[in-house]
Amino acid sequence: MNYNAEHMKRAIACSCENIDQEGGPFGAVIVKDGKIIAEGTNRVTASNDPTAHAEIVAIRNATKYLNNFSLAGCQIYTSCEPCPMCLSAIYWARIDAIYYANTRDDAKEIGFDDSFIYDEIALSMEKRAIPIQQFLREEGLEAFKKWSTTSDKTAY
Ligand SMILES: [Zn+2]
Repeated sequence: MNYNAEHMKRAIACSCENIDQEGGPFGAVIVKDGKIIAEGTNRVTASNDPTAHAEIVAIRNATKYLNNFSLAGCQIYTSCEPCPMCLSAIYWARIDAIYYANTRDDAKEIGFDDSFIYDEIALSMEKRAIPIQQFLREEGLEAFKKWSTTSDKTAY
């Protein structure tokens, strides 16, 4: 893997600056063809958005910049190892490579612990902390049937 330390230094600078902008100590940049095309910082409390982690914000800015839902051909540099939500978003965005500085254990030491989510994912549904119940499957399948028979759609 061929990383560029300058891109990581920018992600780290974003994470530091963000503390003075009412945000958490996390920053990320997305790179395409050797250039930073988008940045993101943690805006969870500032925007009352629990999904506004640095990586998610950077992905939203990059897809808007490229006017494309796919970030194939891009790399993400993030100041901290991505949490399960951000890791999933990175996969959905088709990003080519992930570089991170701080580890999840470093984040845990300052009160950002995502290990419980990794634990939850590994548990069977009935053992998870948040109750989850399936019902109305037949009705729910209507949209899937419609999707299957629609020819004018953007697959992703
Ligand atoms: Zn995250």
